[in-house]
Amino acid sequence: MFVKPGTAKADASTLPVSEPGMPRSVVGIVLLTALSFASPCALAGERGAGERGTSVIVMIADGGGYSVWAATSMYQGRVGRQVVDNPEWTRLSVSTYPLRTTPDKPAPGEAGLKQEADAVYDPAKCWDATSDPESTGAFPNYFRGYAWNKRTKPDSANTASAIMTGVKSYNGALNVNGNGVPQLTLAEVAKKSGRKVGVVSTVPISHATVAAAGGAHHVTRNAYASLAKEMLNAGTCDVIIGAGNPDFDENAGPRGPQDTREYQYVGGQETWQLLLAGTHPAGWKLIQHLPEFVAMASGPTPAKLLGVLPVSTTAQQERRSIGDAKVLPPGLDKKTAGVAPLMLTARVAVHAMEENDAGFFLMIEGGAVDWAEHANQLGRVIEEHTEFIETLETVSAYLDAGDHGWDWSNTLVIVTADHDHLWWGPNSDTVAYQPLEDRGAGNMPGAKWLYNSHSNQLVPFFARGVNAEKFIAYADQVDKATLADGREVGRGKYLDQTEIHAVLEAMLKPGS
Ligand SMILES: [Zn+2]
Repeated sequence: MFVKPGTAKADASTLPVSEPGMPRSVVGIVLLTALSFASPCALAGERGAGERGTSVIVMIADGGGYSVWAATSMYQGRVGRQVVDNPEWTRLSVSTYPLRTTPDKPAPGEAGLKQEADAVYDPAKCWDATSDPESTGAFPNYFRGYAWNKRTKPDSANTASAIMTGVKSYNGALNVNGNGVPQLTLAEVAKKSGRKVGVVSTVPISHATVAAAGGAHHVTRNAYASLAKEMLNAGTCDVIIGAGNPDFDENAGPRGPQDTREYQYVGGQETWQLLLAGTHPAGWKLIQHLPEFVAMASGPTPAKLLGVLPVSTTAQQERRSIGDAKVLPPGLDKKTAGVAPLMLTARVAVHAMEENDAGFFLMIEGGAVDWAEHANQLGRVIEEHTEFIETLETVSAYLDAGDHGWDWSNTLVIVTADHDHLWWGPNSDTVAYQPLEDRGAGNMPGAKWLYNSHSNQLVPFFARGVNAEKFIAYADQVDKATLADGREVGRGKYLDQTEIHAVLEAMLKPGS
């Protein structure tokens, strides 16, 4: 069911054969659409390779740390055999630490810009297996390293901002520095150089990662309406796709006249009315339903494309469960019908931008991996991350084929997480940093939730394509530790999120 690593093109047998809950005819169309992602284009022969600029695709699995990759790979029976395990990919780790742990709002002057020393990633602190027996509550610390990882955790706003602006900030900061001053983003740089800019997610269009990648700014990530308005009005974004639809619930059920509607994610009620009426002053074309996405994956595309999936918060993760989503394995709960999957929304975004010779900057987020982790739902973590990996494979097959003029010679793909969560093996409360337990393909791996929020641990980083080797020089620190029981741990060479920015900024700036 997956595109095999290294294969040049997707064929029918390598694509998902069914999308639970989707009518059969629609499944067929989606399959054809997914295929066309990697199929010959009539225009391909008309354009010389030298006439193209460069494009950047940033793929972020929100909260998609090492445990997430381990869990999904174990469940799929593909440990060490994911597409990013192929030798063409540069493999490193990334630090995601915040500027400070408190206050999580702007602070004035020099003090507001100062890096808090204790928050800086430090292998000795991260991997401290000294027992921490005093701690109690729903999530005891167990070990000092766990405690440090929880105490110094970043969030999706300041980590995405670090990648997008090159500046570290406080938790909740959206493309502003520690003083709360707006910073120039990669999206704005890309736009100035004539590139198209797109953002795609499985969570609301103005949620932290999407808003940061879309070039919006605010002193707090919670200002959804303001962030959405900036994304719609600033002229930076050409494509925005995600959830947060006021007219539908989390199961894609339409809201009735008496139901409460939440308009914040789409910029408020007035903005939503304009978008629905097709009279938004910035000229956005709004699509919502699966057939509209299928249609928009080929043929003419509008200059400004806004996709708001017909769900209130997440594409799938928040849907109802037949039992307890904390314990159910992936796939038992039927997927909500009528909601375009990430593989398709990503394809729609690429299609809307691929004819632009100067190139494009696209961020694709598996946003609800993080939501499933907050809810300690292992099955849904695997579901969400599987969809993210399938999307990565589709992107990879598109560039392998190169039929639309975009291939690995003029496109850079990076795959990473914005931050980690704290969960390890089934006995990791007594065995520090115990790896997840592989119970075979199709079986939920052994794991234990050590927290219901983020951690400061390093996250994986993969890059392939033009300039991918440039990250290696930045990865000048090594994560390595020896635990009391003699086990060697650590993630090897790592760079910082601000250094991802340095490479991308140099590549996207005008004249580059
Ligand atoms: Zn989170």
